[in-house]
Amino acid sequence: MTALEERFGTMVFSDHMMKKYLPSDVYKQLNRTIKEGEPLALDVANAVAHAMKEWALERGATHYAHWFQPLSCITSEKHDGFLEPVGDGTAIAKFSGKELVQGEPDASSFPNGGLRATFEARGYTAWDPTSPAFIKDEVLCIPTAFCSYTGEALDKKTPLLRSMAAVDAQAKRVLALFGKHPRSVTPTIGNEQEYFLIPEDAYAKRQDLIMCGRTLFGAPPCKGQELEEHYFGAIRPTVNAFMKELDDALWAIGIPAKTKHNEVAPAQHELAPVFANANVAVDQNLLIMEEMRLLASHHGLVCLQHEKPFEGINGSGKHNNWSLATENANLLDPGDTPEDNVQFLVFLACVIEAVDDYQDLLRMSVATCGNDHRLGANEAPPAIISIFLGDQLQEIVDRIIAGEHAAHATQSLIDFGVDVLPTLDRDATDRNRTSPFAFTGNKFEFRMPGSAVNVSDANMVLDAAVAKSLKSFADAMEEVPADEFASAALAYIKQTLTDHQRILFGGDGYSEEWHQEAARRGLANLPTTADALPCFVAPKNLALFEEMGVLSETEARSRYEVKLEKYCKRMNIEANTMERMARRTYLPQVSAYANKVAKGIAIVTEVAPDVPMEDERGELATLAEGVHEIYVSLEALSKAHSDAESLGDFQERANAYAHDVTPAMEALRAAVDAMEPIVARDYWPVPTYDDMLFYC
Ligand code: ADP
Ligand code: MG
Repeated sequence: MTALEERFGTMVFSDHMMKKYLPSDVYKQLNRTIKEGEPLALDVANAVAHAMKEWALERGATHYAHWFQPLSCITSEKHDGFLEPVGDGTAIAKFSGKELVQGEPDASSFPNGGLRATFEARGYTAWDPTSPAFIKDEVLCIPTAFCSYTGEALDKKTPLLRSMAAVDAQAKRVLALFGKHPRSVTPTIGNEQEYFLIPEDAYAKRQDLIMCGRTLFGAPPCKGQELEEHYFGAIRPTVNAFMKELDDALWAIGIPAKTKHNEVAPAQHELAPVFANANVAVDQNLLIMEEMRLLASHHGLVCLQHEKPFEGINGSGKHNNWSLATENANLLDPGDTPEDNVQFLVFLACVIEAVDDYQDLLRMSVATCGNDHRLGANEAPPAIISIFLGDQLQEIVDRIIAGEHAAHATQSLIDFGVDVLPTLDRDATDRNRTSPFAFTGNKFEFRMPGSAVNVSDANMVLDAAVAKSLKSFADAMEEVPADEFASAALAYIKQTLTDHQRILFGGDGYSEEWHQEAARRGLANLPTTADALPCFVAPKNLALFEEMGVLSETEARSRYEVKLEKYCKRMNIEANTMERMARRTYLPQVSAYANKVAKGIAIVTEVAPDVPMEDERGELATLAEGVHEIYVSLEALSKAHSDAESLGDFQERANAYAHDVTPAMEALRAAVDAMEPIVARDYWPVPTYDDMLFYC
């Protein structure tokens, strides 16, 4: 067996491989492109392409693909063969620099929210050299950004890269004030991916899972998660075999899969890799999700990545651990000296300001039809953004706000105990699981993103907002004389923390009181996707995107359209599936069972008229009422659904889905679910929660 270390990175064109395969001058030039964003000359690109091809062919690759992330939220790839015939019946393998750096997929079939009507239909993909190429199933995959010919972003990666550049520029200005000049400042992220595994044969019998990724019906199982025995429980052999194959596949493509464990809900699990630079981490997360889905089938399993596949038990999130790093320091790690602590507090205050100012946009960035079922469902944070700092840091912040500082900056830091920041204890800061945005010792954990989402959007918003606060700080401080900087910075920190303290909350985010308190504080509470999406195009948010160079107004508006349409389409699919399942799957079976009970009563009454049949009659009445209830709710849903579909304006349609269709769907579900525990098992037409959640 190959040594463990040698199983890592065998299929990734890593820095190590580049060194090995590239002439040293080419390697140096490419490195400057990767680390400092210098443009890549065509002859260098040709040399890189040649080396990449040789490397890939040695590892069995036959094709290459520009791998990108269209707005449909999944990844796309078109495979092109390396082979080209030379006319004498033979062929050679070819791959040029141009083919490496640029591709020209037809953009017309990808969502673009009206950009196509306004601009050129064709799009192009451009190599992102900061995310390494890898081989997947004999295809050399090249991570790329996807734009229209006129440069409008058509994907999720481009704005993320732009937001990273904005943070880089503004954070460097701030660090320069502290006399530091790193080569780069990069957002780092580590995503904890939650998922469910269920038996493939059960999945195949559930139209709702196949069409919508979640169960639209289903009574609670006899046993849920109340015994708390699944979390960190021993991993069963089938699941373990899957996890081992998954780890191996991920390691081969250079993804440092690190932790794996059973999660709280039955059949729920989690995988977290070691964090990476934001764009790389997003690429890796999407690959992790893809490998999970594909490899599950090798084990007779299906991997569900929906945010809420099963009602009544925990849904799945994708916690986004986030920090800012230079090439040698984590900027959210409190330093060892009072000066470092001022710098830490500047970054902290800027994050707090960013999250408060753009709380609506952050909420919007994770709004999907699936996540609507998860947020606020008592296992995930509510749809209200707040920040948890932990007791120690909160106390320091409180003291700064209260103005407990002396005139001299360093002395004042010692006065409020800021010099003891280095002892900030991770365990003391990591306890509040109910907070959507929690400081965990040396990074923030954004817990709102759902398991199915591409977290590019959330990180683009966060990075853009933080870049803006950093910019404000740098703008205010660059004119201050050096000897006054420390106290001016502290005054700035004090003012910023004072202005934004409403976003800080250390209590129970799941509680009803918090909803009321948050309303008093004027925090945004946007319960559904339909409520949250308009924030995308609110003037202050458009201004942020413009100012930070992340999205033009046209791009932002087109993205809003795409999200709205997608929400409406998904809701339409769910309503269709529900109506069809109610009518064709459940009603016939509940009626058939009612008929059986009725026939039983008739036969017994005929044969033995004296036998009391009250209980059976009672059951028959319940079944008959249940059937009636299903019919009535089905009618109500059909009406709400067709009313929604008839609305031409997508925002209005989305509102109707969120506020009229959703309650009608819930009512129909309740009517069907009420029958499940009383209809004979043999008559029930689909696998139940009991059947799906405890068998692998
Ligand atoms: P927990 O479940 O306690 O929140 P996990 O170990 O499951 O923690 O996940 C933590 C994630 O945070 C990992 O992906 C880890 O690599 C990541 N992480 C650690 N430090 C940083 C950092 N500085 N920036 C971004 N992510 C980080
Ligand atoms: Mg975790």
